[in-house]
Amino acid sequence: MPAPRTYANSTDSVHAGAPAARPGHSLTHGIVQTATYTFENTETLERYMRGEDPDADREEYGRYGNPTVHELERRLAELEHAETSVSFASGMAAMTTAILALVKAGDHVVLFRDCYRRTRQFVTQLLPRFGVEHSVVPPGDLDALSAALKDNTRLVLTEAPTNPFQYCADLEQLSRVVRARGRIRTLIDSTLATPCNLRPIELGIDLVMHSATKYLSGHNDVLGGLVAGPGHLVSLVRDARNVLGGIQDPHAAFLILRGLKTLSLRVERQNQTALAVARALEKHPRVTRVYYALLESHPSYAIARQQLRGGGGMVSFIVSGGRGAASKVVDHCRIAKIAASFGGAETLIDQPAIMSYSELSEEELRRIDIDPALIRLSVGIEETDDVVRSVMAALDA
Ligand code: PLP
Repeated sequence: MPAPRTYANSTDSVHAGAPAARPGHSLTHGIVQTATYTFENTETLERYMRGEDPDADREEYGRYGNPTVHELERRLAELEHAETSVSFASGMAAMTTAILALVKAGDHVVLFRDCYRRTRQFVTQLLPRFGVEHSVVPPGDLDALSAALKDNTRLVLTEAPTNPFQYCADLEQLSRVVRARGRIRTLIDSTLATPCNLRPIELGIDLVMHSATKYLSGHNDVLGGLVAGPGHLVSLVRDARNVLGGIQDPHAAFLILRGLKTLSLRVERQNQTALAVARALEKHPRVTRVYYALLESHPSYAIARQQLRGGGGMVSFIVSGGRGAASKVVDHCRIAKIAASFGGAETLIDQPAIMSYSELSEEELRRIDIDPALIRLSVGIEETDDVVRSVMAALDA
């Protein structure tokens, strides 16, 4: 494991994982835009193939690695206090490759219900085609998790906090329950938390996954994904990536590296703004329910207080008056753009029943707890008061 840390999040965001020197004495990392790598002669090639090349950045082919991508992998590993990490072209490439690396036909996966719909789709619709069973349990419910574990369970998967309802499982307890059964891996999608608010590996979790498209890159201009953890597990995921082919492009890796430098500053502001919005929403007469893990009214408040350093930038809420009333609030929120995604500099807003789940009937929406009047607000880095005033004005309009 890496040595214990002495630096704060903001210092680590700028420096963690950076090499002592870079080619050409450059302060910043470069973009090594290449699809393949050359060898001076057969002897150097053979030495590399035997694993004896001293240059850790050395690769044979672009699908297996890239120096710019390596720097991103080192930085994320340091930020997560993990041994190593592996980088992907998107969050879903990271998630699906990690799952495929960890399970085989005949295995069983447990998934917490409230999670990104494409992850749920992969586990519940695609994995069964390859002979992998699953159980879906209520978010954060560790008794239901224990009851769902079977002899052939090999993977437990959740988000921390979940999207969009912000449920938090007690990750320390979760990893204890799972470890007691042996041979089961835990994989946490920590996209909403970021390493600034939560470090699942310190709580005993095996692997942490991120959609770098969100907070890590932070500017809504690039897709990416990463999986961090101990070397022996990450190398399984890396081997699967090298076959499946979802590696990060070097230019995208450069943009994520640049975004990471301001991660802590952005997340601090987003934590502060989202909490202020959530508190203001709770007092508004047109709002019937607010979901923000650091609100006393949230079912996960106690564990969120204990495990999260901040609640993150997403607030979900339900307005009275149904689907149409919610659409009016969305349309009148001047500061927010209507868009999918979250975690960037701009405040974004969407109505999940219309954006992410438009194909579902009212009955199907009810089954997955998506109220037609649910609004998901993902705050950006604008001034806190401006965001609060804009949301309140939209509710009053
Ligand atoms: N995990 C979470 C929590 C997400 O919200 C998303 C996308 O919205 C993903 C994973 C997938 O990431 P990407 O869009 O980068 O593939």
